[in-house]
Amino acid sequence: MSARRDPAGGGGTMKNCEYRQIEPQGLGTPNAAPPPPAGANDADTRAKRRRKWEVFPGKNRFYCDGRIMVARQSGVLPLTLGLIVLTSCLFFVFDCPFLVEHVTSCIPAIGGALFAFVIISLLQTSFRDPGILPRATADEAAYTEKQIDDSASSSYRPPPRTLEVIINQQVVKLKYCFTCKMFRPPRTSHCSLCDNCVERFDHHCPWVGNCVGKRNYRFFYAFIVSLSFLTAFIFGCVTTHLTLRSQGGKGLITAVQESPLIVCFFSVWSILGLSGFHTYLVASNLTTNEDIKGSWSGNSGVQNTVNPYSYNNIFANCCAVLCAPLPPSLIDRRGFLPTQESPPAAQPQVELPVFVGKSDLTVV
Ligand SMILES: [Zn+2]
Ligand SMILES: [Zn+2]
Repeated sequence: MSARRDPAGGGGTMKNCEYRQIEPQGLGTPNAAPPPPAGANDADTRAKRRRKWEVFPGKNRFYCDGRIMVARQSGVLPLTLGLIVLTSCLFFVFDCPFLVEHVTSCIPAIGGALFAFVIISLLQTSFRDPGILPRATADEAAYTEKQIDDSASSSYRPPPRTLEVIINQQVVKLKYCFTCKMFRPPRTSHCSLCDNCVERFDHHCPWVGNCVGKRNYRFFYAFIVSLSFLTAFIFGCVTTHLTLRSQGGKGLITAVQESPLIVCFFSVWSILGLSGFHTYLVASNLTTNEDIKGSWSGNSGVQNTVNPYSYNNIFANCCAVLCAPLPPSLIDRRGFLPTQESPPAAQPQVELPVFVGKSDLTVV
């Protein structure tokens, strides 16, 4: 069925409709709020209309009317934020004044820029939809069940709930998700803590209080890399501070008391190690999940496997993981539910542009 007519060939039936160019973003956000019916009481309409996040089936928490989403167990996130803020404050209070006086006045500016970058990328990782796939609707689930039943042989054994697809000459098995009632697309995994299927699932990170997946991996990577730079920078400054102070006639113990940030010595190695590990993953286009399971290294029992998602080029892999266009969120958490309060559709349905009159529909 075609809902739109060729504006050039419009003619008689289009005379009551003023033609307007359909904006791409208009079709890209098909679940935008429909206009309230004419004459309806605004307050009543607003009270009846509920946003999709209010009935979201996963275990996420939403704030600011659905603009911010975090995992339910996000209690460690304030600790992460607190540690970063506390360490940076101690650095600015105890080390910066001495270093500005004796080394250079650029040190607070560099520290401040790194600190801001770390906090922004942390919040982007934590509050962003990691790439959650909406659950199947009852109709879609019934259709999938029928497909599974049809594919079964006449034996009494239940049909296998796996699909095999070929990606880059490599057989990839798709598992059925009993919670989301669908076959998980390649690289998708169900996070048991958030109770969602997440595309290109990397891992669930309690430190950032969110899953890390297709839509927030680059922010997570920016976070750990910038945090490595910040801790290494602070560690370098603290070491310089201590060295200069101990050379000035004071003992090392007195100098350490005046710069409590020697604790950076212990944290800097773990953060640098984590950054190095994720740099390796980015360069080989792997996820933590695939690396731990050994999906492409032969550990999973299948021999002669290679990572089918890799471009076999470090630069191309980095571009694909970090610079590819960010896909839109599929859960449309701020969209309105239909007025009859039915559960949200699994896939956004493209609605007719409001300016197309019903009488002008043409069935082709
Ligand atoms: Zn699932
Ligand atoms: Zn999760």
